Amino acid sequence: MFTLLFIAFLLSDIALRLWLASRQIRHVLQHRAAVPAEFADRIGLHSHQRAADYTVAKMRISMIERVTEAAVLVGFTLLGGLQFLDLQLGYLIDNEMLRQLALIGAVLALLGIIGLPFSIWKKFKLEARFGFNRLTPKLFVLDSLKTLFLSLLFGIPLVASILWIMGNTGPNWVWWAWGIWVGFNLLILWLFPTFIAPLFNKFTPLDNRAMAQRIQALAQRCGFSLSGLFVMDGSRRSAHGNAYFTGFGKARRIVFFDTLLTRLNVDEVEAVLAHELGHFKHKHILKRMIVSFSLALVFAWLLSWLSTQVWFYVQLGVLPQLGRPNDALALVLFFLTIPVFTFWFTPLASWFSRRDEFQADHYAAQQCSADALVSALVKLYDDNAATLTPDPVHSSFYDSHPPAVLRIQNLKQHG
Ligand SMILES: [Zn+2]
Repeated sequence: MFTLLFIAFLLSDIALRLWLASRQIRHVLQHRAAVPAEFADRIGLHSHQRAADYTVAKMRISMIERVTEAAVLVGFTLLGGLQFLDLQLGYLIDNEMLRQLALIGAVLALLGIIGLPFSIWKKFKLEARFGFNRLTPKLFVLDSLKTLFLSLLFGIPLVASILWIMGNTGPNWVWWAWGIWVGFNLLILWLFPTFIAPLFNKFTPLDNRAMAQRIQALAQRCGFSLSGLFVMDGSRRSAHGNAYFTGFGKARRIVFFDTLLTRLNVDEVEAVLAHELGHFKHKHILKRMIVSFSLALVFAWLLSWLSTQVWFYVQLGVLPQLGRPNDALALVLFFLTIPVFTFWFTPLASWFSRRDEFQADHYAAQQCSADALVSALVKLYDDNAATLTPDPVHSSFYDSHPPAVLRIQNLKQHG
């Protein structure tokens, strides 16, 4: 029964994804011939068509990627891939902890290897074709090795402690594992600005005094304590621009991509930051963290129940091993298959995210100039070749940010 349910969800997922992608491609191509009237004075036809082609090219590769992922999932589960790995590792390794870690490691390694051609294609073909890629093959290899090193450094202790908890703390393991998970996430957030991010990028204090003063004044006006303004050499990897907040409490800093600062003037940078401060003022980041930790607890309960149900393994193509712990197997099965069922909640998450974006825009319009934010947004859409004419259905399903036209209309009403 569960096998059929799983197949039904998987097929409908894929059908829905492909349908949405083809809608998006059709819609963008239909509007490729002319710049929408609202942007006609700010964006040239050439830029508009480049954005359309970039969007379509991204959609096409994502369609191939999604179908591949679904095939890999079926390969691991119903076609017996996981069963094979589990048995082989069972013959090879006697130590139960090592055996279980090896199973999780093998699955992650295989997923990584399958994903690699896509990430290479995207960076060196797709992004390069539209002039975004600045990454050299050498830097790509270096980045990948660093990511691998960090994943092992943090991942092995995390997974080992969760496996130990699952095997040794009885039915209350959910609370312990959840505690570890929350602690781990907070640790990463804390280490990110000072330890992790500098492994990949150079951060230098912002040396534009006029801009620094404006931003300090804005932060003060908004009641936001700030310990530093940094510029990151994002241009080493990509021409896409961005800005973000990082760090806790007193160690809070703002990071600008150098690519953003070269394009926006002081008013526009101030407006973009006021938008980010809007997220902070409305406690969006805190709320998201609470939602994510609560969901983690729900999922942990679900996993603790499923891991004791023989049908959960058997119906997904694996026989649990008798007399040996199957916790790693349960973890892998759960994390591989759960997205098939949660995919249907995507529009809900997107809706909440877009609501937050509108709130942050309103806040920015109150603190600075709405016009400056509009002109910053138009530049960013243009520079990032983001489409101005997304398909409404695709957009309401996936988009974390409202479509450009709606966002700008809304700002103009509040400005
Ligand atoms: Zn935002």
